[in-house]
Amino acid sequence: MFEKQVQIPSASELHSTQPLSEAMKKIKKERDELVREVISGKSDKLLVIVGPCSAHESAPVLEYVKRLGKLNEKVKDRLVLVPRIYTNKPRTRGVGYKGMFLQPDPENKEDIVKGIRTIRELHLHAITESGLTAADEMLYPENYSYFEDVLSYVAVGARSSENQMHRLVSSGAEVPVGIKNPMSGRIDVLLNSIFASQHPQVFKYGEWQVATNGNEYAHAILRGMVDFHGNDVPNYHYETVMQVLEGYQKSDILKNPAVIIDANHSNSGKQFRQQIRIVKEVLQNRSLDESFKKAIKGFMIESFLVEGNQKHNVVFGQSITDACLGWEDTERLILDIAEKA
Ligand code: PEP
Ligand code: MN
Repeated sequence: MFEKQVQIPSASELHSTQPLSEAMKKIKKERDELVREVISGKSDKLLVIVGPCSAHESAPVLEYVKRLGKLNEKVKDRLVLVPRIYTNKPRTRGVGYKGMFLQPDPENKEDIVKGIRTIRELHLHAITESGLTAADEMLYPENYSYFEDVLSYVAVGARSSENQMHRLVSSGAEVPVGIKNPMSGRIDVLLNSIFASQHPQVFKYGEWQVATNGNEYAHAILRGMVDFHGNDVPNYHYETVMQVLEGYQKSDILKNPAVIIDANHSNSGKQFRQQIRIVKEVLQNRSLDESFKKAIKGFMIESFLVEGNQKHNVVFGQSITDACLGWEDTERLILDIAEKA
């Protein structure tokens, strides 16, 4: 039984009621190109996708993005900063807070239309306040069309990377799509997903049969894995990165070999402060090996105004999902990455 609750307006309706200004469109176009250039190796800057695990409330996210915009001015010669504005959360057991898309107010019940409007408004404000366009996870591929005009980076999560629809929609995105290694850590599965996303595809998308050109900027994100006993196992080290690189090189079809290191999740064992050590270790390895250096295109870091996390939204700017670094540590870390990039 599916009780029809509310009819959702189409993506094009929402694009026209909450449009980007010409100035915003220009920023988005330039930023997309900057991010693509890092992934393709045309630019040797590092990409830093940074922000809270989930954007549960607009005001603290806007404050965060504003600070990031200022910091970007200091580091933009070496880094491309992309705020995480993550509005859909996968849940390991399928229950709990699932993000702003479903719950624009985390303490209130589901309201998807309000969720979409709140997210679009947040992105438009974020671009105006910071000059930065953001990243989100493509948790529900059919929803990508609601936000494709505002996102400069998309991630496919560890629980979705083997999924057909995620790969198909990734193949049509015009911005880089970072595909996380599956929870099992299998590199062959990850490479198959990148292959499928880089390949032209034909499928049903909304009401249409669509054809895509393939997304040559689809690439790998290493987020650590979970072993047979449920323990986190890191995979940000030289050995795994080289395995991914070897996989790219063995295939004469895959383009733009690229690896982003997600410093949190199973790499840190969700010990959020370990993100600092992990990023520094990777930077150190970059300075020791040229192929490793070329493969690593950047980092994903979970960070918010206040460090740690909380069960309910009481502390302004503290995560209600995964624990994050606080602002001061984040700023220091980003300046450090810029110095060593
Ligand atoms: C995330 O990036 O917050 C996330 C849920 O990641 P993963 O899919 O790696 O668990
Ligand atoms: Mn997270």
